[in-house]
Amino acid sequence: MICDKCHGELFADREAGAYVAQYGYLGGRVHCMAGCTSIWLLKRADGSERVIPRDGRGQRHKHKFRCVDCRQVQLTRSYNTKRCKGCNVILHRKRAAAAQRRYARRIA
Ligand SMILES: [Zn+2]
Ligand SMILES: [Zn+2]
Repeated sequence: MICDKCHGELFADREAGAYVAQYGYLGGRVHCMAGCTSIWLLKRADGSERVIPRDGRGQRHKHKFRCVDCRQVQLTRSYNTKRCKGCNVILHRKRAAAAQRRYARRIA
């Protein structure tokens, strides 16, 4: 195979081939010699559609936290959540209103 960009030769990544084989895919990744492309060529071993295996991102565990305003226990993916969504909206509105008042006073 030939690279689209530089027309150099592409070579297969054997490790990638072994990696996708674990997930029931045939194929692997090909790299350009000059490093300008790397393409995944995948086919399911059973002949179904082409899907790129995920590396586990987006599957972060949710944990519980207690909202500092309404004291409700909720779930979050973030590590420093202090308020539930509802309380956050209220807080932001209050801050925006306060900023608006300060601004109104300054231009009055
Ligand atoms: Zn290239
Ligand atoms: Zn709350």
